[in-house]
Formats: sequence, C-alpha cells, structure tokens
Amino acid sequence: QIGALRMPDTAGGGEPNIVLYFRDLTEARRLEAMRVDFVANASHELRTPLSALLGFIETLQGPARDDVRAREQFLGIMRTQAQRMTRLIDDLLSLSRIELREHVAPTRPVDLARIARQLVDMQVPLARERGVDLRIEAPDAPMPVLGERDELSRVIENLIENAMKYGGSGGVVTVALQRLPGTEGRPDRIELRVTDAGPGIAPEHLPRLTERFYRVDVASSRQQGGTGLGLAIVKHTLNRHRGRLTIESALGVGTSMRVTLPEYRPEPVEDPADPLAER
Ligand code: ADP
Repeated sequence: QIGALRMPDTAGGGEPNIVLYFRDLTEARRLEAMRVDFVANASHELRTPLSALLGFIETLQGPARDDVRAREQFLGIMRTQAQRMTRLIDDLLSLSRIELREHVAPTRPVDLARIARQLVDMQVPLARERGVDLRIEAPDAPMPVLGERDELSRVIENLIENAMKYGGSGGVVTVALQRLPGTEGRPDRIELRVTDAGPGIAPEHLPRLTERFYRVDVASSRQQGGTGLGLAIVKHTLNRHRGRLTIESALGVGTSMRVTLPEYRPEPVEDPADPLAER
C-alpha cells in the first residue's frame, strides 16, 4: 500500500509538507485469509456433529418414537457426536489460550524426563487395552527445561495419542529422551522422540501437518475421535517454549515425531566464601 499525507506547515515557509508512506500488506492479507479460513473450518467442524444430532432428535420425536431398540442405538450415536463437539471446543479453547501466551516465555525449570515418565506410566494400561506396547527409553538423569508442566505434558500426550491412533494396533510406540550437545554456539538441547511403526505419512503431507484442521485422511481422523488440532497445539506450545517439532516419516516404515527444547542451565551463583570468586 502506498499513500501520501499532507502535514501542517511547521517550518513556516508556506510550503505544505507531504509525507509518502509504503506499507507491506502481503503479510497482513495472508494472516487475515488464515483467520477467515480458520473460522470457516471451525464452523464446519462444529456443524457436522450438530446436524447429525438434530437429525436423530427429529427421528426420535417422529418415526422412531416407539422403537425402543432404535432409541438405544440413536442415543449412543448422539452421545458420541456430543463428545466430539466437546473435544473440539476444548481443543479450540486450549489453542487460543496457548496463542495468547505464545510470546511469554516460561521461567520455571521442570524435568522433562520426569514428566514423560509419569505420563507413560499413566498411559501404559490404556495402551495395552488398545493392543499397543508403549515403552519409554530415558537415561536415569534429569532433563531440565524451562517450561509449563501441563503444557509440555499435553504435547507428549498428543504425540503418544497420535502414534497409537495412526501407528496401527498391535504395534510398539516408543518415547525416547536424550541430551543433544549444542553446536556452533547453540545451547545443549533435550530431545524427546515418539516413534511408531505404523503406515507412515507421504512426504507431500509433512509440511502441512501442524496446520489447524489439516488431516491426511479426514474420515480416519474423525473415526478415531481426532479434532485436527492436536499438532497445531503441539506447534504453538513449542513456539512458546523455544522448542521445535520435526516430523520424520517413511511410508511402510513408521513415523517419528521429534521435539527439541533448549536445556535449562542455572546461572552460576557466586559463592561469597570462595576466595577465587571475582569481587
Ligand atoms: P487429529 O486430531 O486428526 O489426530 P493432529 O493435528 O493430531 O489431528 O494430526 C494431524 C494429522 O496428521 C492426522 O489426522 C494424521 O493424518 C496425521 N498424523 C499425525 N500423527 C501421525 C502418525 N504418528 N502416523 C501417521 N499419521 C499421523
């Protein structure tokens, strides 16, 4: 956008002052288009279960009024649809809360290995019920990062949940942690990797997986109870934590979701009793 503004004559020479301005609207337009898309997608996602609910209510009030078996079956489906709407609204709220705080870096150190262990311990029985062997591989040492416990726990949970949903039942899902030494002035990092041996993801989808509502197979995601927001929540949480998500996947081999976060190192405190310490 280019424009001109006529400013009051402050120099007193009688000549008007003209200020020309240039503004790059490409980024603003792109963000606006994303916002419009998001509202359209969210409305569509909410309307689908809502239409199903209305349809069943009408059938129960009309043709199926006295059919006890149909009533039981329809109520079951209605419950599933209502649960789907609840999950979607919960995820939308989480995403907007995280985005609001995206530029506020966390200040408290937490142990990522401990958070991962607690989560895996909790999930193992559920995984077993779904025929998945969930394992953790982590050295017996703390892995400190600056972070929000609940938010990081949610990141790991989303990745485990996806590995179980799309990694195929009967498989092994591994959560592995390690310290990565920093290179070229970058700090040491903590890496958490969630790996499955599922069908994998075709390369053309990889760059878009963290977009809101982007799914490789919409029907399969819906059937698994997915909202299409899980990886967007992961990405925005990691932005806040100065972390990164890298997705590695090969068709027929499996998928590995890799999270890296800067390792937390406490500032060395000068010991006043230490004669070597500079004053
Ligand atoms: P959803 O609620 O659909 O699971 P996500 O944002 O968590 O949404 O994931 C987006 C899409 O990425 C999924 O619909 C699925 O197609 C794909 N995906 C995520 N994790 C995996 C995985 N471990 N293996 C294969 N595909 C995956």
